[in-house]
Parts: sequence; structure tokens; C-alpha cells
Amino acid sequence: MSFFYNFLPDYSEPLYRPPSESRSLIFQITEGCSHNKCTFCGMYIDKQFRLKPVNEVFREIDKIPNDYALRVDKIFLADGDAVIYPTDRLIIILDKMNEKFPNLKRISSYAGARELVLKSVHEWRELAHRKLTLIYFGMESGNNTVRKLMNKGYDVEEFIGTLKEISSFIDLSIMIILGGGGRKYSKEHALDTARVISEVSPRYASLLTLFMRRNRDYFQNIETPTMGDLMEESKTVISNIGGSNITFRSNHISNFVSLSGILPDDREKLVSSIDKGIARLKAEGLYDMIPDYYMEDC
Ligand code: SF4
Repeated sequence: MSFFYNFLPDYSEPLYRPPSESRSLIFQITEGCSHNKCTFCGMYIDKQFRLKPVNEVFREIDKIPNDYALRVDKIFLADGDAVIYPTDRLIIILDKMNEKFPNLKRISSYAGARELVLKSVHEWRELAHRKLTLIYFGMESGNNTVRKLMNKGYDVEEFIGTLKEISSFIDLSIMIILGGGGRKYSKEHALDTARVISEVSPRYASLLTLFMRRNRDYFQNIETPTMGDLMEESKTVISNIGGSNITFRSNHISNFVSLSGILPDDREKLVSSIDKGIARLKAEGLYDMIPDYYMEDC
């Protein structure tokens, strides 16, 4: 066991990755989140952001034994927005990874709107040529009022063009946060989010439910959503997503119903699952209840 840990890259806690990266080798080329100001997010609240110097990343790559390196086909770049890394130096790191891991199929990372627009489409192409071909984009909402409540930092009009352009050569996995607009902005949040997803038509889209891990007053002026509200909101999102061939998932632990399918083809099946979930909430007297985790301390 200790042998295994000796050659792993260096990790600083907390370390997060998407569920679909469970079999990926993770390199923490940045620590924390360069934005770290979203009003609901406490993921990296106590972690000072830093870019790990290229020579430090190289040292971690070099210590992976070559026979193990042959088995690595996916790499995830951590932490919260690793592609904020300046492109010239990121290219040097990706080249090194491609050299070290000959069977590498893809490299992925989380990104926010800022990272998207700070790089040109040409830069994104250069990165994609080096197998950075999957971006988990934390859009959270396609509605600007809700994005402001969340302090995401950019309006939709500022990043949707880049999203559309890079989606032709990078797989996008767009994350949406149910409940982000409270009860007050639920409808706008759902409809505008569905509109952006439809326009971009990403490879993947996923729904999570808002966890308050930073600002306990998040819902103060927008009414805390009930379990029923959250289910209705997910139904509105799914009912209004167009586009084509979008792999849709809503299987995060925060969600009340686990959903998966291809949109828009599986829309009816997904909506029917939500309707069953709504009926169950009603039967159990939970429809008008506020989720337990909205009652906890942050
Ligand atoms: S939601 Fe993403 S961008 Fe916002 S603070 Fe958390 S990790 Fe950073």
C-alpha cells in the first residue's frame, strides 16, 4: 500500500472531482479556486488559491512509474478551475503528460465562465489538440439574475458564444444547480437555463441541487424552495431542453430522483420519472417540506 502512495501525485485536501472521473489520475495543477466567491459554495473556502509551478507538476509526473503510466488513459486536472492556468504553461504541462502517458485518451477539468472567456478559441483548440477535450462547466444557471445571486461573475451573453464555438471540438458537461433562484426566480432560472442548454447543445448536462455551504442567508429574499418546488423546477428544465443528443444526468446525492437519459429523445421517460417522484413526495407528505440540508448550519 505504501508503495502505491509513494508514486501518487501530491494532493492537498480537500480534493474534489466529478463522479465520472473516478478512474482518472488526478493532478492538482492548481490548489483551491481562483474565484472562490460563489455565495453558495464552500468547497475551497479555507484553501488559498495557488498555481502549482510547472517544475513541481513535472516532478509529480516524473515519479509515476512507467509501467503504471501505460495504464493511465484519463487525467483530471484539479482543483476548482485548473484551466485558469496560463495557456503557454498549461501547454507545456499537457505536452509532458502526453509524452509520459502514451495511452492517454483525454484530459478534463472544471471551468467557470471566467476561464472560458479568458482564453481565445484558438487557445482552446491548442489545448484540445493536446487532449484537453472535456470541460465540466459550472454554469449553474442560464439566468443572469440568479447568476448574480450566486455571484458567478459573468452574464450569459459574455460566455455563450465561446461555449457554442468550443463545443464543436471540446465535450462540454454543463452543470446546473436546482433551487439557485429560490422560489422567487424558479421559473426564470429553469427556462433560461433550458434555453442556454438548447442553444449550446453540449455533450452532457447534469442537475445538482443547491447545497448552502457558505451563506446561510442565501434564500432570505427569494424564499426557500420546498422539495416539491425543486422537483417541479427539474421538470421545467427537462421539458424545455432542445438541442440534440445531450447525455443528461441527475444522479448527484443532492437530488431526490435519479435520472439519466438522452435529451431530447428521452424527455417523456425523464418527465414521467419526475412525475412519479412528485407523486411519492405528495403521498409521503414531503412535497411542501423544506429539505433538511437547508435547515442545517453552513
Ligand atoms: S462554485 Fe466553482 S467557481 Fe464558484 S467558488 Fe465554488 S469552486 Fe469556485
